[in-house]
Amino acid sequence: MRLSILLCCVILTGCGQPEAKDGPIKLRGKAMGTTWLVTLRELPDKTSEKILQDEMEAALERIESLASHWRTDTPVSRFNRARDTQPFPVSPELLAILQAADRIHHKTGGAFDVTVAPLVNLWGFGPIEETRGKIPDDEEIENALASMGQGKLMLLPKSAIRKTQPDLQLDLSALAKGYAIDLVAQRLDELGALHYLVELGGELRAKGNGSAGNGWKVGLEHPETDGRRTKIHRVITLENAAVATSGNYRLAFTDKDTGQAYSHIIDPRTGHPVSHELTAVSVLAPTAMEADAWATALLVLGQEKGLSLAEHENLTALFVERDPSGIKALTTPNFPH
Ligand code: ADP
Ligand code: MG
Repeated sequence: MRLSILLCCVILTGCGQPEAKDGPIKLRGKAMGTTWLVTLRELPDKTSEKILQDEMEAALERIESLASHWRTDTPVSRFNRARDTQPFPVSPELLAILQAADRIHHKTGGAFDVTVAPLVNLWGFGPIEETRGKIPDDEEIENALASMGQGKLMLLPKSAIRKTQPDLQLDLSALAKGYAIDLVAQRLDELGALHYLVELGGELRAKGNGSAGNGWKVGLEHPETDGRRTKIHRVITLENAAVATSGNYRLAFTDKDTGQAYSHIIDPRTGHPVSHELTAVSVLAPTAMEADAWATALLVLGQEKGLSLAEHENLTALFVERDPSGIKALTTPNFPH
């Protein structure tokens, strides 16, 4: 995600609470085209803020240099540039991300598809500059559809992948941020941190407790939030869990002539950006990668199909729909109140 910064979750922990003298510790920076913030209740033994800052930056750099298709020197970009159908060796880590993507692709009947890159580019949301703000015609959409399809990507058993069509390309944006958060959390665990909240571009993962009691209180952003002020839709407590939100309301571009807004989340079954009334989906899950991927996937599916699949998969999800009468929220029964 590069064009619009979705700040879907707002960190509330500590609001109105006196802060401990030695905490919380906040580390922040920029990665993956967005911002990150790590909040720790206390400094783990044998670390310093400098050590932690360097560790966080290194973890985020590692995932960006593995999975970004915006940078030209990553394995994903090299795979995208390859115009053959030879096996392409990948690290077990990249294979694991693709396996997770594969599971969700199948479970959503193709609504979630990490080979969506040609469509994302065509609608002006990818690394290609020429298409920014332009609306493609039907023929261009047909051509982009013909050069994508996760079913054309083979995951081979020995850490390799293979295109069955030479122009296939990957875009892991829908789950890479979540995966990066999981890596950061794993590093914090290894360093001995017991209470932390990791946020990257609005997606969150928490462990232990913040300063305001059990878990970490976080606010899910209201879809009417504009660039100037943030409205909170719902406050939830994250206890050793992650939450991610996908929204089509932070629009990356609006056609000046028609006023029609186009989302960066694209339905690979139609080739068009999602435009239904379902405007945001938040998913709570044990890992940020699952939460991130499912939030995107359920948003593409829409309210009815998304909610029924979420219940079938025993996911914990909140669906926010916007129609002329206002905002309506529906949740799976297990979503915290
Ligand atoms: P964000 O990155 O803004 O938080 P998401 O996690 O929902 O939002 O990811 C959206 C990105 O995923 C898009 O910018 C695009 O690169 C990619 N994408 C768009 N549509 C799909 C889709 N149907 N399946 C998988 N990835 C998609
Ligand atoms: Mg996502």
